Amino acid sequence: MNIVQPLLALQEIDARLRVLQQEARDIPLRKSQEQGRLRGAQEALAQAQAGLKTAQVRVNDAEGEVKDRREKINKLRQQQLTLKTNKEFAAINLEIATIEGQIDASEARQVAAMDALVPAQARVKEAEGLLQEQQSVVDGYLKELDARLATVQQEIQQAETDRVAAAKNVAPTFLTHYTRLVVRRWPPVVPLEGQACGGCHLTQPPSVPHSVRHNSSLVACQSCGRILYIP
Ligand SMILES: [Zn+2]
Repeated sequence: MNIVQPLLALQEIDARLRVLQQEARDIPLRKSQEQGRLRGAQEALAQAQAGLKTAQVRVNDAEGEVKDRREKINKLRQQQLTLKTNKEFAAINLEIATIEGQIDASEARQVAAMDALVPAQARVKEAEGLLQEQQSVVDGYLKELDARLATVQQEIQQAETDRVAAAKNVAPTFLTHYTRLVVRRWPPVVPLEGQACGGCHLTQPPSVPHSVRHNSSLVACQSCGRILYIP
């Protein structure tokens, strides 16, 4: 048996673990990307709501103007009852006529503002619908991602259990060497490719393939330190 075989088995589990751990790290990012996809629809809704608010304010303003001017006319009519001369009476009539003209303008503005209210309400409703539609699609993805994360975490747990068992099959000195190497190089155990290291591709001196073939101790690449084996 090749003496690196137990290390290769361990490396295979570590490879699986690395992929799973990367996926577990990526899932929260993917979730926030999904949520980010709603931003456009959320902004469109906020804009439609602001438009509706402006339209509502215009209606209220025009209504307020009409009301204020009618009150003013009422006051002027009260005032007319107390007047002594026709001249004064006529002057107030003129003032009332002016205000009535202003009321007409305010009422026209009110009608126009109310006309604008309907499409503004429709835009809000449409934007709400679009957001809701996208929200339900995104919610679906989020649910899938959560389910995937749960599976990945289970698989990580399984791989960690497998790793403990696989590590028991490795000679302690080999394990120490591998553990030191794995933090700097991935993968730490590589095949010889002809005379070259399968990791950094440096051609090894002839003594190296010879030692690897001898299969009695771990042989490291002269450049990157990876453990070499003959596949
Ligand atoms: Zn190398």
